[in-house]
Amino acid sequence: MNLPVYTLLVVLLQPLIIFFLFHCRKKIFFVPIEEGDPIPDPMKKSMLFFAFVISSFLGIAQTPDPVVDAIVKEATENSQLETLAHALLDGIGPRLVGTPQMQQAHDWALATYSGWGIAARNEKWGEWRGWERGISHIDMVRPRTKSLEGMQLAWSPGTGGKTITAEVIAIPDATDSIAFQKWLPSAKGKFIMTSMNQPTGRPDYNWEEFGTKESVEKMKTARTAQTEAWTDRIKKTGYTIKTLPGALEKAGAAGIVMSNWSKGFGVNKIFEAFTKKIPTVDISLEDYGLLYRLAESGSKPAISIRTDSKEMGMVPTFNTVAEIKGTEKPDEYVMLSAHFDSWDGGTGATDNGTGTLTMMEAMRILKKAYPHPKRTILVGHWGSEEQGLNGSRAFVEDHPEIVQHLQALFNQDNGTGRVINITGQGFLYAYEYIDRWLSKVPEAIRKPIETKFPGTPGGGGSDFASFVTAGAPAFSLSSLNWSYFNYTWHTNRDTYDKIVFDDVRNNAILTAILVYMASEDPVTTSREKSVLPINSKTGLPGTWPEQKKATRKGG
Ligand SMILES: [Zn+2]
Repeated sequence: MNLPVYTLLVVLLQPLIIFFLFHCRKKIFFVPIEEGDPIPDPMKKSMLFFAFVISSFLGIAQTPDPVVDAIVKEATENSQLETLAHALLDGIGPRLVGTPQMQQAHDWALATYSGWGIAARNEKWGEWRGWERGISHIDMVRPRTKSLEGMQLAWSPGTGGKTITAEVIAIPDATDSIAFQKWLPSAKGKFIMTSMNQPTGRPDYNWEEFGTKESVEKMKTARTAQTEAWTDRIKKTGYTIKTLPGALEKAGAAGIVMSNWSKGFGVNKIFEAFTKKIPTVDISLEDYGLLYRLAESGSKPAISIRTDSKEMGMVPTFNTVAEIKGTEKPDEYVMLSAHFDSWDGGTGATDNGTGTLTMMEAMRILKKAYPHPKRTILVGHWGSEEQGLNGSRAFVEDHPEIVQHLQALFNQDNGTGRVINITGQGFLYAYEYIDRWLSKVPEAIRKPIETKFPGTPGGGGSDFASFVTAGAPAFSLSSLNWSYFNYTWHTNRDTYDKIVFDDVRNNAILTAILVYMASEDPVTTSREKSVLPINSKTGLPGTWPEQKKATRKGG
């Protein structure tokens, strides 16, 4: 039923109910009232209230938009978020580009959409080095036995089915690159530690809560000095942090041992290895510190490592795209967007599992609550965002007809939190349509959202930028932090348990309503760009960020 019909019902039904209650008041309220008597005031009030309740109950008086209501109802009463999260994050796991798990995720998405009656396809956009992570077992075997918390980095070579045991030493503080070259042969047969030994495993917020002002300052000053000295130590080798592992490998090292602390309790960032034959492992701050101190004190600690991994040659890479065809303007598009790939230290639960879940759930809800959209609704689950927005850049290159007729795109990619920021991405009139669409969002979800117009156009960071740089109205639904940068972003702790499902549910409702409103809008959105402020670095007028090419062959 549409809005005018509802309004008509309200106008007709409410007086009828009141009239009915007035005439049947004796029977309903069991109060003897003589004909002609004035109705007592409390009675009048309760009757009016009763009439109001009945009409509200019929869903009349406060239903400004039945589609919005249906979206909220479906998201709240029939949420599939937990089920989807379990299948994707627990069942399939991390989704590093080029891995079999990434492919499984694409296939799972197709099957899931098909189960909801939504057409979906995997679009090939390039190829990548195929690799599959196996086990990482790391133990200290001298001076005592202890299992260590650590794992191989992405694309690390394995140990060929063997367990390798060797002494672990730190790179030396050589006076210069010549001295380092002289030292290099002593790396042979050893595991080499290439990271600084952090002076504290407590995050700064913990120091600031409990430390005295003096001890906090002392710790920070010492740490800064130590960090500078370590940077210098690397520099003096004549290599960079990217080229040093290769040099150690060439010198016959048994493996690279590092620790990329993420400045929270027990959390490390896990990126890619730079070795070609020997394993590179990341060890937790606590265990790395233990090995480092033992090495420094002359205890000659030894560890054994077994890592399995499989090289699989070049493999095709995809985006998953699903579609609900438009009825009136099928050649105009409203898009939902979130990258599908992840780093693989955890399961990519908040980067970008939650963005993925938001978009999938919003699509499912839209198919139920708004099955015949005016414009075509598309969702893009992008591949290889982590290596440079490659999936979405490729899509923009491959589908100029969609980019040209894009009404709006909504991307979410900064964690599990409820959305609190939307900017106009530099589009001069974005305020007009975004504000209008937002007005239909339930107050509890809308109110915390700060908007900034016209804002600055995003040149990178996540997939909306691939569209913004091409001049198409694409927006980022930006989330509340929830300790994203220290605790989950690209870390070994980015797992299911960090998801705040209520916030993700809010985001699915928000996205579905924005998509519905953008699709229904009688007006095509303006793409007029605002005049950008003077660039403070160059002193020249600001320029729109450039569209960058997708890397189609990587790894
Ligand atoms: Zn991300």
